[in-house]
Amino acid sequence: MTFNDFNLKKEILRRLEEIGFEKPSPIQEKAIPVVLEGKDVVAQAQTGTGKTAAFGLPILSKMKKGEKALVITPTRELAIQVSEEIFRFGKYLGIHTATVYGGSSYSRQIKHIQNSEFIVATPGRLLDLLKSGKIDIAPSYVILDEADEMLDMGFLDDIKEIFKFVPSDRQTLLFSATMPEPIKNLARTILKEPEFITITRKQVTNENIKEYFYVIDENERKDALIRLIDYKNPSKAIVFCRTKKDVDDIAEYLRGAGFEAKGLHGDMDQRKREEVIRAFKNDRLEILVATDVAARGLDVNNVTHVFNYHLPLDPESYVHRIGRTGRAGKEGMAVSLVTPHEFRALNRIQKISKIELKEIPTLSDVKNS
Ligand code: ADP
Ligand code: MG
Repeated sequence: MTFNDFNLKKEILRRLEEIGFEKPSPIQEKAIPVVLEGKDVVAQAQTGTGKTAAFGLPILSKMKKGEKALVITPTRELAIQVSEEIFRFGKYLGIHTATVYGGSSYSRQIKHIQNSEFIVATPGRLLDLLKSGKIDIAPSYVILDEADEMLDMGFLDDIKEIFKFVPSDRQTLLFSATMPEPIKNLARTILKEPEFITITRKQVTNENIKEYFYVIDENERKDALIRLIDYKNPSKAIVFCRTKKDVDDIAEYLRGAGFEAKGLHGDMDQRKREEVIRAFKNDRLEILVATDVAARGLDVNNVTHVFNYHLPLDPESYVHRIGRTGRAGKEGMAVSLVTPHEFRALNRIQKISKIELKEIPTLSDVKNS
């Protein structure tokens, strides 16, 4: 499945292409069509699984002129993050976002709220503004983001009060990593016949595959990859990247370092893709650099190593990726690069896989191997 399978506006699809979003995450796959239909939704998926796009993309896509959307988030940091992400998606729609939180100027925020289609706010400041009559917004869409955190922070009463100020004729969405009882109850009182979407994890990994996780800094990602390829000395490897742009960059970087590497992604024409796949199958190519989508259904034997340049967003993709090696009873090795920033994704993979963190090999390790 790709984003093109949804009925999203072309300005959004173009933008997703540009920022390298290729494959919807599981929560996006389930939530986007239901939100587009206009239904209220309660969606549960772990942190880091792409919930912002799960509501942001369909709302941006269906928003009519003059309509407003209100996102309520527990903290100022999250408000800024969500606001930036929505703005990024809405580039070709000319969308304005206002970020509203305590401790910053009222007058500036009020002006931004008036001029913006998307308002992302923390509960306290929003309620202040609503109660004082300083703003009058009638959002057609209201999204409660990270609802369980709002509960933890004691915002439940504020939330209930905020809903007295928004029209009942609206679409309401609630996103949360966990679904404690008070959140379910809240959902029952402020949503109308919501659809419940839950993404759970399952699956276990193959015994024939040895898994290694190397902790690195973001700025050493490319060098770490080269060093690990040198160290593990694969005869046939796939390097997985999250975006098409990374595929092009990494393939070129590997070639520059003297490896036989070629990229594979959806923007290449069919002939070129088939040529690369054939070369890889026939052992004329050492390293294939690919996105998840491009490598889907790819049936190649004797892949000795899978390298995850970035961890995938969901554990299912991880299982899928590493399953490219260790086939037909053969031994395989999966090597993932992980920055501290990706520890949340790592946590999710840990639930289905045995993780042992390692340091990247030094140059002398590489020489002595
Ligand atoms: P959550 O709200 O579930 O914690 P976020 O919406 O913050 O997750 O997304 C986590 C990260 O994944 C963000 O950096 C986001 O840009 C990225 N992301 C989300 N969806 C995709 C996708 N389909 N493809 C690539 N990156 C994605
Ligand atoms: Mg989020």
